[in-house]
Amino acid sequence: MCPRRIALDFADEGGAHDDVSRARLRSPFLDAARAAHGDGGQMRRDAFRVPVDLEPEEQAVFAHAARWYAQLYGDREVTTYLHDCDRPTERRGVRVGGWVDLTVVGADGTLELRQLDLWRSRAPRDDPLELVSVWLAVLRLRPWVGDGDLLVSWADLVGGARHERIVDLGAELETLRARYDEHLETLRARADAGDPRPGSGCAQCRHVGKCPAHPGAVRLSGRRGDLRPGILRLSPTSLETWRRCRRAWHDQYLLTVPASDEGGSPDHGLLVHAVLRFLHDHGSCHDDAHVADVLEAHSGSPRLRDEVLRHADRCPTPAEALGHEIDVARFAPATPATYSFLATARLDAVWIHDGILDARDYKTGAVLTPRVADDPRAWVQLWVLAPIARERGLGLRLRYEHLSADIAEDPDPWEPDGEELLAVEARLRAEIVAMRDADGWAGVADPEVCKYCRYRSICPDSTMPGEPQWPAVAEA
Ligand SMILES: [Zn+2]
Repeated sequence: MCPRRIALDFADEGGAHDDVSRARLRSPFLDAARAAHGDGGQMRRDAFRVPVDLEPEEQAVFAHAARWYAQLYGDREVTTYLHDCDRPTERRGVRVGGWVDLTVVGADGTLELRQLDLWRSRAPRDDPLELVSVWLAVLRLRPWVGDGDLLVSWADLVGGARHERIVDLGAELETLRARYDEHLETLRARADAGDPRPGSGCAQCRHVGKCPAHPGAVRLSGRRGDLRPGILRLSPTSLETWRRCRRAWHDQYLLTVPASDEGGSPDHGLLVHAVLRFLHDHGSCHDDAHVADVLEAHSGSPRLRDEVLRHADRCPTPAEALGHEIDVARFAPATPATYSFLATARLDAVWIHDGILDARDYKTGAVLTPRVADDPRAWVQLWVLAPIARERGLGLRLRYEHLSADIAEDPDPWEPDGEELLAVEARLRAEIVAMRDADGWAGVADPEVCKYCRYRSICPDSTMPGEPQWPAVAEA
């Protein structure tokens, strides 16, 4: 992570906007769980009333999570214990924050921590203490637990998975403290307020205002009750989503509710990208022996081999690599008629040859537009790259490499001139104004769009409403 961001987060330099979208679901859910165990004894299932002020998509998550909660925890007789970790804990001059979800005491006196996930975040493989959010919460509960046992439970209440184990704090405290000290030391060593390193992390950073890497940025907070951050963020995918359906954009980027449906598996695409990166980092894709070695190491299927060969046909040579899978960020200050925004993009490969900065995007899916210039994702990619090309006095080109053998021709590459780049910026600014000024989030309700949407089952405007594809609780 960017050293400046660590330094400012670490020093708790306020910054703009917190994780308000997740709190929308988490707070009422924890309130319900606390009420359900308020008096001890049997869990009161009726405590999980779906809040009417949530959006329908959030309500679907809430109702689903309540069913999994009852399934995973309903048979334990526990009483709510109100911990005091909603505010950061002071620990040797450091304020330790993060969410501590639910603490309960069993009928037999067992103390239990339940960390509940409602967003399909990264799950532990086995031990819940693999997650920083879990072991940090355990450390903060030390005054409550003392040197005794704590049952630590982490559950994905959307996917229906639970990982738990008993932590003997008397025996494990030293290990946990050592882990904490080690993390703290790493953070202290990396933190440097004077060393901003812009990249994809800027999309989540709370300190873009006044960042020297983004001249002109001022600190802006979102309006109260409005989930839009003070400085709107753009990525190639988020712009594509926004133009496809505002409701989908709102669900994914503002509410951050977990997708209810499959959107096509990205696994093969990820593999192709990883292999091409490895290939170029360690040699040339035009070296047959090297290609054979890499394919063998990745147990390459005939399909993968085919895609790598198709790439090699298109790969510029000789060329200097500016980088592979590089993250670029660019800030746009407000103008009298538009708002500021920050765009980030990842480029699969950026080459320098023949006086141009030649960016490549590897595609494993279908061709969507006959020209790269017509794809909104490309507008963001080129706009963030433009200053890098200008600084080096290079022309700019973006090419899509469609690697599947089913696709005969790539879309026309794009080599915009200065005027075209200005037009791109104007288009991006117009989208930002529309995002900022939108006063509702109606979906497009177009069967052709809805049928591929990752929210099609739970969106109120969907033409294909249905049961979400989340793992369901088996009927008793
Ligand atoms: Zn290559």
